[in-house]
Amino acid sequence: MTTVQSPPAPPTAIRPRVVARTGLYAVLAANAAVVAYFFAQAGFASNALIVIGRLFGLYGALVMAFQLVLVARLPWLDRRIGMDRLTSWHRWTGFALLWTLLAHAVFISFGYADGAGVGPVTELVDLAETTEGVLRAIVALGIILVVGAVSARYARRRLAYETWHFIHLYTYVAVVLAFTHQVAVGTTFTASSAAKAYWYGVWGVALGAVVLGRLVLPLWRNLRHQLRVSAVVHESDNVVSIHITGRDLDRMPAQAGQFFLWRFLTRDRWWQANPFSLSAAPDGRTLRLTAKAAGDGSAALRHVKVGTRVFAEGPYGAFTALHRTRSESLLIAGGVGVTPIRALLEELEGHAVVIYRVSADRDAVLYDELRELAVAKGADLHLVTGPPVPDRLAPRELARLVPDIGDRDVFLCGPPPMMNAVLRSLGDLGVPKQQIHFERFSLAG
Ligand SMILES: Cc1cc2nc3c(=O)[nH]c(=O)nc-3n(C[C@H](O)[C@H](O)[C@H](O)COP(=O)(O)OP(=O)(O)OC[C@H]3O[C@@H](n4cnc5c(N)ncnc54)[C@H](O)[C@@H]3O)c2cc1C
Repeated sequence: MTTVQSPPAPPTAIRPRVVARTGLYAVLAANAAVVAYFFAQAGFASNALIVIGRLFGLYGALVMAFQLVLVARLPWLDRRIGMDRLTSWHRWTGFALLWTLLAHAVFISFGYADGAGVGPVTELVDLAETTEGVLRAIVALGIILVVGAVSARYARRRLAYETWHFIHLYTYVAVVLAFTHQVAVGTTFTASSAAKAYWYGVWGVALGAVVLGRLVLPLWRNLRHQLRVSAVVHESDNVVSIHITGRDLDRMPAQAGQFFLWRFLTRDRWWQANPFSLSAAPDGRTLRLTAKAAGDGSAALRHVKVGTRVFAEGPYGAFTALHRTRSESLLIAGGVGVTPIRALLEELEGHAVVIYRVSADRDAVLYDELRELAVAKGADLHLVTGPPVPDRLAPRELARLVPDIGDRDVFLCGPPPMMNAVLRSLGDLGVPKQQIHFERFSLAG
């Protein structure tokens, strides 16, 4: 692939992120309206508690289907919204889903208990024993409660990514149980074959999206490109670059600023996939990642052998030239956050200023490359060193280094505290939000 030099979008164009977000909301709103229509059509022949409980159940299931689309990793959505934002929405709608389904169970139990003159727990046990599909729903809710608990920030930080992810996969079991429960006992669906067909359609699309984005596309791309490690370069004591070759790489739709989930098929690490950004713009012949040792998986990359097969899911991410709004740019990197910045510098058209923030000169990996690129492209490069405090990228410092900062797109990647400080500085300097683009090196936070 030849590097695409992407000019900024014309000022009148609707931003890609806004298009994708509006599309998602519109689809959700349209489906919410269809659900309400079928619900009303089925009639309200029960007491108010049961009616409210059923409505919670229907909307809970709709949110569940929407949840699947958010994490399906569909390229069109991912390039426009970004996996970080999609994952964050998935996280928050996940908690909303949990409360909606709990409300469904509580309202239904109280509603039926009211009619039968017994307590809600007795009624729930009775329903589970006598009504087809209710036990499945209780198991589904139990699974979702466990997934919700391990996804709470406190638990999430204490679990290895893989453990959390493995538990999370049980939601697919919950999805199947919940769906079969609904079509078996949901009055909206037992009353109307059109409603049933619609519901099968909704779930077919949602599950189809997951199968396509998470299974078919990655398998197809890896079969096609046959990726292998072609070189391993030690950049410093704890940073290594891995060069990867493969077939037809000019057909890989990757852009500077994007990342892949890399799985190196060695005997002891094939089970682990880690996200790493491209640290050079793809040139149609090779891909390169540069990884700092943060844990066992990234540290083991130093020992990967040339020739090792690689399974890569991606490219993912919206930290790309697609979102440009201005013809000039400011690229700010902190530490190993330099990887996508280095690739973007190669790809972006127009004048660029690069600020590379590190604690000491020796931490500035890829600096020589950055300097050569800056010279070749006529970009200004500033290496800013020193301890985190005092803040060397405070508003006054930034304005001094880049006086026309308000007229540039800003691309930012670095450690969270540095990024938060720079985002505050950019806000103080009045840089419009749509000109600020950033990549956080965490997805499931
Ligand atoms: C979009 C993105 C791009 C990144 N690019 C780079 C880069 O170019 N260079 C670089 O050095 N680092 C990068 N990182 C960080 C890098 O992914 C982690 O340092 C690495 O995965 C740590 O894995 P580990 O097995 O060594 O450590 P672990 O101790 O296993 O993991 C440490 C933390 O890394 C995160 N992590 C691990 N695996 C995954 C995964 N599959 N998905 C999401 N998060 C995971 C989790 O938050 C985990 O808690 C990037 C991260 C993201 C999200």
